[in-house]
Amino acid sequence: FPVDRIRNFCIIAHIDHGKSTLADRLLEMTGAIAKTEKNKQVLDKLQVERERGITVKAQTASLFYNHEGQRYLLNLIDTPGHVDFSYEVSRSISACQGVLLIVDANQGIQAQTVANFYLAFEAQLTIIPVINKIDLKNADPERVESQIEKVFDIPREECIRISAKLGTNVDKVLQAVVNRIPPPIASTEDPFKALVFDSNFDHYRGVVANIAVFGGWVKKGDKIVSAHLGKAYEVNELGLLRPDEHPTQKLFAGQVGYIIAGMKDVKEAQIGDTLYLQEQPVEALPGFKPAKAMVFAGMYPMDQSEYTGLRSAIERLTLNDSSVAVQRDSSLALGAGWRLGFLGLLHMEVFNQRLEQEYNASVIVTAPTVPYKAVLSSAKLIKNRRAVQKNMVYIDDQRVMMKYLFPLNEIVVDFYDLLKSLSSGYASFDYENAGYQAADLIKMDILLNGRPVEELTTVVHRERAYSTGKAMCERLKDSIPRQMFEIAIQAAIGSKVIARETRTEKMFLQNYGGDITRKMKLLKKQAEGKKKMRRIGNVEVPKDAFISVLKRK
Ligand code: GDP
Ligand code: MG
Repeated sequence: FPVDRIRNFCIIAHIDHGKSTLADRLLEMTGAIAKTEKNKQVLDKLQVERERGITVKAQTASLFYNHEGQRYLLNLIDTPGHVDFSYEVSRSISACQGVLLIVDANQGIQAQTVANFYLAFEAQLTIIPVINKIDLKNADPERVESQIEKVFDIPREECIRISAKLGTNVDKVLQAVVNRIPPPIASTEDPFKALVFDSNFDHYRGVVANIAVFGGWVKKGDKIVSAHLGKAYEVNELGLLRPDEHPTQKLFAGQVGYIIAGMKDVKEAQIGDTLYLQEQPVEALPGFKPAKAMVFAGMYPMDQSEYTGLRSAIERLTLNDSSVAVQRDSSLALGAGWRLGFLGLLHMEVFNQRLEQEYNASVIVTAPTVPYKAVLSSAKLIKNRRAVQKNMVYIDDQRVMMKYLFPLNEIVVDFYDLLKSLSSGYASFDYENAGYQAADLIKMDILLNGRPVEELTTVVHRERAYSTGKAMCERLKDSIPRQMFEIAIQAAIGSKVIARETRTEKMFLQNYGGDITRKMKLLKKQAEGKKKMRRIGNVEVPKDAFISVLKRK
């Protein structure tokens, strides 16, 4: 296919602004899929994507489009819009020459619209602003055009107003893709060089990598090398995604497609990696960054007998997601399990949901934590830094964009939910890593009748110690059964107690009367319960108590 009639583009937007719906319309209009009610968000294949209405894995489709008597090959990459997956977005972008920047005509510019715009802008791509959902009663495309002009410095005349739902003006989008986005600069004369921008694991065929060919061509049987690991593979199959796999003989410079080469783990085809021919080594494409976990949580089987099952589920799921960091871990309270690292909170939730839905696993997920670097000296006495305002820009008279520096720990737990509820859903938020900063963090112990409970020791900010300690004591009190004596539940920093709750002793008022079976049942239940108890000093603590304190709310 002649390179000058190829267009590589992706669709970027804030979540829910209509990327997947527009992708559906583009697929229908170019005949890649049939027009039926059933074809909704066809590129969102995972169950969690369909339920949550979000895109987790980027998906690709090659479309053939006839325009002014010429046949064009349009490679569309649908990207996940959420912050957690911005690395995937950045890699998808680097496979393209242009983007469709979708903005909801009602909601206007939102946090990820801005974040995604900058990814495309920095990569110097052609940006086509598309204002979607003009069919909505409250649509205000005029206002959104003013925002686009003001914030992105793009003339309002360049905006295309559409309704992806109804198909209105979607033909104009296709024309703009052909007319405004340049073809890739790629020559079949050069040595083969391809960017891996996504990869999936298939149980029968191994890793299926999605690639954009930047130079040369590749065919079945070729020996290729992945630059990052330096390992060699033989190409078993390759082809186009339309959006289902269509095997072809070769893939040429400028094309986007899939390749299967006997890789057994997605870690062998990491997003951002470069593939080349073994006999013609080339320099790797810039921008490769191994995924970096930002949020950590413990995952434990509900019951230790489910350990092996959960292990294989986690192994299989991480085969498909190289960005999850896995480390074996064990807790006195919860038994053997794992400490998993995720790109962000949504990533963690999606992973957990997939474990439950696709592998039928039931797991205990502990409250998420973020990485700290500890320096064991008095330098921690440095004055604390909570949110520091960096700048503020008025997008228009109704919307303001503010930048703050936050400790990550402050945003992982409930910041997003709070922000949404305080602003009645109007505020949106995005973050990027600003590196480590010194902070006034302290170690807090939880004591039961004076004995520390090892598994409940946490790192907290000094200012939060009191409220966190109090909450933990309260939750523990409510989940420890009454015993023969009073139990003091305390939170302490070093030797200083900062919070206390008391569990009063058990009262012996029960009278079982003559019902011996009922009494036996009760005794049996208590004995079973005992097995699941852990003794701390003289206090019996049931496993559930740990779970209720450690688990995510
Ligand atoms: P994504 O998160 O950007 O992929 O957004 P989706 O394509 O999943 O769309 C989010 C929601 O907006 C869905 O409920 C769509 O049906 C709806 N939607 C998308 N485009 C339009 C449109 O043009 N008009 C209206 N009224 N709703 C739309
Ligand atoms: Mg989507």
